[in-house]
Amino acid sequence: MTNVFAKMSDQPYWWEAAPRVEEAPPELPQAIDVLVVGGGFSGLNAARVLAKAGKSVLVCEAKFAGYGASTRNGGMLGPSFHKLGIKGLTAHYGAERTHDILKESIRFVGFLQSVLADEGIDCDFRRAGRFRCASRPAHYEQMARDLEPLVAATGLEAEVVTKNLVREEIGTDRFHGGIRYHIDAGLHPAKYHDGLVRVLREAGGILAANTEVLEIKKLARGFSVKTSSGTVVAGQVAICTNGYTSKVTPWFRRRVLPIRSSMIATEPLRPELMKELMPTRRCYGDTRRIMAYYRPSPDGTRILFGGRASSDDDATRNATLLRQSLLDVFPVLEKTRITHSWSGLVAYAFDHVPHLGEHDGMHYAMGYCGSGVARATFFGTKLGHKMLGDIEAGRTAFDDLPFETRPLYNGVPWFMPAIIRWHRFIDQLGF
Ligand SMILES: Cc1cc2nc3c(=O)[nH]c(=O)nc-3n(C[C@H](O)[C@H](O)[C@H](O)COP(=O)(O)OP(=O)(O)OC[C@H]3O[C@@H](n4cnc5c(N)ncnc54)[C@H](O)[C@@H]3O)c2cc1C
Repeated sequence: MTNVFAKMSDQPYWWEAAPRVEEAPPELPQAIDVLVVGGGFSGLNAARVLAKAGKSVLVCEAKFAGYGASTRNGGMLGPSFHKLGIKGLTAHYGAERTHDILKESIRFVGFLQSVLADEGIDCDFRRAGRFRCASRPAHYEQMARDLEPLVAATGLEAEVVTKNLVREEIGTDRFHGGIRYHIDAGLHPAKYHDGLVRVLREAGGILAANTEVLEIKKLARGFSVKTSSGTVVAGQVAICTNGYTSKVTPWFRRRVLPIRSSMIATEPLRPELMKELMPTRRCYGDTRRIMAYYRPSPDGTRILFGGRASSDDDATRNATLLRQSLLDVFPVLEKTRITHSWSGLVAYAFDHVPHLGEHDGMHYAMGYCGSGVARATFFGTKLGHKMLGDIEAGRTAFDDLPFETRPLYNGVPWFMPAIIRWHRFIDQLGF
C-alpha cells in the first residue's frame, strides 16, 4: 500500500516559491514615531501607510518575517459574508450598522487589488470567484433563502446553483447545490507578504525580525517598549498580533480566541483530473460543521485543502484529519500523495466580527475570524490612517464596535477541542 504521507514536508507549500529568510535582529533606534507589534498583513499595511506619510516606523516581529498566519493561509479572498450573517449582525448592531458593514465588506477584495496595483506587488492575484457547496439539502435551501436579502442589501453578484449543475463547478457528487460568488479571488500569500515587506523597506520603515516585544509601558507621552533586542521609546504603538496575541498585551488576549487552522497540498495531479475536479478554478468552501476550504494552487497543478484539524501543530495528525475531509469531497484522490502539511493560528472574536480601534492609548486591528487576507489589508490600512490622525481616510463601518470578552476567559480557549469533536460528530451523523 502507498504511504501517501511519505516525504511530506511540514512547511507551507507557499514557502517553496517564496522562501522565508532568517535575519538577525537589526540594531534598534532609541526612539521612533510608531512601533508596530506583529509583522503580518495587518502590521505591514499599517506600517506601509505610516512610513509613506513620512513617519519613522519600526515593525517588531517575534520570529522570522512572515512567521504568522499571513504566509500560511489559503490565499482566498472575499467579503466573508458567511462569517458575519445578516441576522446575527442585525441582532448585535442594528439594521443601519449592519447595512454599512455589508456594503463595506463587499469592497475588501477590490481594495486589496488596488493596493497590489499601487504598490506593484505581483502575487498571482486572480479573480476566479468562489463556489460554496451545500453539504446537506437543508443547507442548500437555507443558503438560497439567505442569498436574496444579501443581494438586495449589497448588490453582491452571486447565484444559486442547483444540484444537477454542481458538476459544472466542482467534480464531485457530494454536494446538494451551492452558490457561485463572482467577487472572490485568490492570491499567493507569501509572495504578497514579501511584496509588503519590500514596500515598507523602500519607504524607509524597519522590519525587525526575531525581535519579540516583551513589555509595553505607558509614559506621560508615548510608550517605552522593551524588546528582545533592546528598549525603544515610541510615540505610538499598534498591536497587530491577531492569533499570536500573548500575555504581553493581556487586555487584547482576553478578547481573541486563538484557533489553529491547517492546510495540506496534494502532489501535482494530471491536468485532465484537475480540470475535472476544479473546472472553473475557483476557491471553494462547504457547509460541513468542520469547516473546509479548498482551491487549486495558483499554477493550477494541485489542490490546496484547509480546515480545522487538531489544536496542536502535529503535521501528520493534521494531514490525516484533513485528508479524510478531502476524500469526503473527492474520493477519487484516495491514492494521491500529500506533499505538504502545515498550520497556523487565526483569531476569533466573540461577536464574529473583526475589530480595530484604540485601547489605553494603543491602536489595534485583529479578530478576523479566519478570513483575514483581504480584511487585514483593509483594517491595517485604515489603522495607519487613524494613527496619522486622518479621521476621514481612517473611518470604517467597523468603528467603535464593542470588543467583548467573557467572564473567566484568559486567552486560552480550552473548550475548543471539545467543540471541534462535537462538530465532527454532528457531521458524521449527517445533520
Ligand atoms: C492555515 C490558515 C489558512 C487561512 N486561510 C485563509 C484564507 O484562505 N483567506 C483568508 O482571508 N484568511 C485566511 N486565514 C487567516 C489569515 O491568514 C489571517 O487572518 C491574517 O493573516 C492575519 O494577519 P495578521 O497580520 O493580523 O496576523 P499574523 O499574520 O498572524 O501576524 C501576527 C504576527 O504577530 C507576531 N507577534 C505576536 N506577538 C508578538 C510579540 N510580542 N512581539 C513581536 N511579534 C509578535 C507573530 O509572530 C505573528 O507573525 C488563514 C489562516 C491560517 C492559519
